[in-house]
Amino acid sequence: MMNMRILLQFPEGLKQEALRHAKELEGQGNEVVVSATPTFGACDLAIDEAKNIGAEKIVHFGHAEFHRVDFNVEYVPYQINADFSILDRAVEPLRQFKTVGIVTTIQHIHQLDKVADFFRQHGKEVVIGKPYGFAKKPGQILGCDAGSAASVNGRVDALVYFGGGMFHPLGALLVTTKPFLLIEPFQGTVEFIDKYREIYSKRSRGKILASVDAKNIGILVTTKNGQNNMPMARILKAKAESAGLSAAILVSNTFDFGSINNMLEFDAFVNTACPRISIDDTDRLRKPLLSANEFNEVLRIKDELKGGRKR
Ligand code: SF4
Repeated sequence: MMNMRILLQFPEGLKQEALRHAKELEGQGNEVVVSATPTFGACDLAIDEAKNIGAEKIVHFGHAEFHRVDFNVEYVPYQINADFSILDRAVEPLRQFKTVGIVTTIQHIHQLDKVADFFRQHGKEVVIGKPYGFAKKPGQILGCDAGSAASVNGRVDALVYFGGGMFHPLGALLVTTKPFLLIEPFQGTVEFIDKYREIYSKRSRGKILASVDAKNIGILVTTKNGQNNMPMARILKAKAESAGLSAAILVSNTFDFGSINNMLEFDAFVNTACPRISIDDTDRLRKPLLSANEFNEVLRIKDELKGGRKR
């Protein structure tokens, strides 16, 4: 007898395990359907899909809860045991720093105490930030929320990220100012990544300057439930219009940059969805893709130029 109809949702890195989990839950008497839509966080729960197929529950793999929703969702965190042997290579680069702040992702949060103990044994004072914003555990960072790094920035001599990839440490790097060591056990990388602060700051300035003459603005809104920000889009549209620009709100679930590139009338786009889109995906659009703050800066410069012209 059927127990329940369940929709399974996996982030991209775990989609390869979908069949195994589907069969396991089917074996327990459930009807199981797998979401094939791209997803990158628990900010993006496939509630519309679940309702469409009459599912009573979503099982979301790989992320902890991000936001409250009015639907039955079970979160299945996915822990990865990274090899600690790489830590030996971090001792020398950190030699001159007395106090270090350590951050990681939800996949390695269970390893954080051991990483901290390693550095303590090597004479460091270790600071682990409280959970901030969307993060649920001490020392945890998300791509859009590195509060536990930012909150310890003033108390440490250096910051250390332990875990996979560059996506998460980049977010933490951009909200801190101290030397930032990446320890990436899967690629075997131990290196300071501070140079990216300047690279990304120049890139941001470039986008702002390239948008100063923009006349038509596309404001991107996603229907992903934890990222949707229609109120902000309306505010930005009103601001654009009161600055004499023409603006439209463009809605999608997962943005297809090919489609957006077909919207040739627009001179610049402003992102109100996942904040990382306007940092990581700018090269995928022909026109500048700005954050809300960057757009406000564009408006400020335009205003200043107008004042200058009047004088
Ligand atoms: S970084 Fe983007 S995709 Fe990841 S949790 Fe934050 S909003 Fe969601």
